[in-house]
Amino acid sequence: MDRLQCKACGSHSMLPMELEPDEPDAIDLLTDDHEARFYTCHVCGDNWLSVRRVEEGDCKITFVHQMGLQPLLKRTAHMTTPILLQEETVERWDYFVGDDEVGENRWRDTLSDRRQTLRSICSN
Ligand SMILES: [Zn+2]
Repeated sequence: MDRLQCKACGSHSMLPMELEPDEPDAIDLLTDDHEARFYTCHVCGDNWLSVRRVEEGDCKITFVHQMGLQPLLKRTAHMTTPILLQEETVERWDYFVGDDEVGENRWRDTLSDRRQTLRSICSN
């Protein structure tokens, strides 16, 4: 099993999960031929969803962090190649808080605030 380190609490407890079909945030993002991965941390509950779409040679990967919290925090990678995701194959990132496109710094601050909240909940 493919365990990842959690970026909120630091434990190696991020596990791939089946997406709940009734998860409201996921419904917009998921249609038949999109490839999705959903990971949840079993210690603190941090989670992320990635959805990959390839359309006419153009590849986009959308990441949604901490589903269930509003506004929705997501970012989209526009890829120069659909083969693999690495920082150097990402042409551009778009960052969103809810429906608003925001700058990268504000987006990262929001994510790190949320992760700090999780971390403090699980260390109490
Ligand atoms: Zn965690």
